[in-house]
Amino acid sequence: MVKTISKRVKNISPSATLTISAEAKKLASMGKPVINMSVGEPDFNTPKHIIDAAEKAMKEGKTFYTPTKGIPELLDAIADYYSEKGFDISPENVIVTPGAKYAIFEAIMSVIDEGDEVILLDPSWVSYEPCIKVAGGKVVWVPHSAGFEDAPVEEYITRKTKLIIINSPSNPLGVIYPEKFLKKIRDLAIDYETLVLSDEIYDRIVFEDKARSIAEFEDMLEKTIIINGFSKTYSMTGWRLGYAIANKDIVKYMTRLQSHSVSHPTSFVQYAGVAALKGDQSCVDKMVKEFKVRRDIMMEHIKDMGLEFAPPKGAFYMFVNVNKDSMEFCEKFLKEKYVATTPGKAFGNSYSTWIRLSYATSRENIEEAMNRLAEFIS
Ligand code: PMP
Ligand code: GLU
Repeated sequence: MVKTISKRVKNISPSATLTISAEAKKLASMGKPVINMSVGEPDFNTPKHIIDAAEKAMKEGKTFYTPTKGIPELLDAIADYYSEKGFDISPENVIVTPGAKYAIFEAIMSVIDEGDEVILLDPSWVSYEPCIKVAGGKVVWVPHSAGFEDAPVEEYITRKTKLIIINSPSNPLGVIYPEKFLKKIRDLAIDYETLVLSDEIYDRIVFEDKARSIAEFEDMLEKTIIINGFSKTYSMTGWRLGYAIANKDIVKYMTRLQSHSVSHPTSFVQYAGVAALKGDQSCVDKMVKEFKVRRDIMMEHIKDMGLEFAPPKGAFYMFVNVNKDSMEFCEKFLKEKYVATTPGKAFGNSYSTWIRLSYATSRENIEEAMNRLAEFIS
């Protein structure tokens, strides 16, 4: 009976990206020629040296509880990765989590109180809003300006704003925010004394420009919760390994919450994470090169169809205006042409005629899906 369910969870919907992807997989298992462009999941195998490291750890008996915030080797490797980017951080600023998604959940639960306002750029990735709602926060959507590289956050920020969420390169846009925009967010965060959550999970999947972190800007390291993980860079979605970097106080409370919920990410998966960060990085370069080729193929087709799109400079998504109700469009496109895509509505309120296309699928699939799209819209 519904009476047993809390208001907190009744208030949230299932993840649209995961739901549509499950639907696509179901159709494929029924023998339909499905092309899945609905989920942000690299289609490459996890590199062998990473798998070997997990196997070695298991065989060596590293199959027991680990420290709550992660094994020291992994905390060191993450601190080194961000130190090499120029940040003055130590392992004390790091907590590893089962997936970046859980780092986001834990961070939001640790800083948001009932009624606190959280600024989300519209469109934003599907899971931020439910995390904020569960924490009792109030989501304030800020639509992007034309071109998607700016948003009038100054018009929406108030003294009640506790957190601003930035994700660059962006899911679902593929946009990389320019320095000017990040500088504006920095100034607002300082003036209004807010925190910033900077989701940098696509930091390595960049084709043009440089994905800068807001934490690089003056006085921002203390005020930023950086989120990152292994799912995208090393094609490790199922391993569930992510992390947060924040000031020691925030890390302390996230660790407390983690100690009473998931305890820590799986022991041997953490050793695989060390191998990922410390091992040969050519696997990442190869994957990014391939994503760029796919992006170029897809962009050419979208341009030929005359559709408007956000500048796809990183991650592996294109956000495209199909000029029709996107819920209906995506449903029909899947049913009639067997291409799974995600409606703009899943990512906010303002882009109801836009859809997200993930190009984490083969070149052949992209060519075929684009042919089906051209047929479908004509
Ligand atoms: N942030 C963004 C923007 C994402 O696209 C994803 C993909 N699921 C995540 C966080 C979470 O990644 P994961 O939990 O697989 O590490
Ligand atoms: N981040 C991916 C996406 O947006 C994976 C699915 C999910 O976790 O939402 O499709």
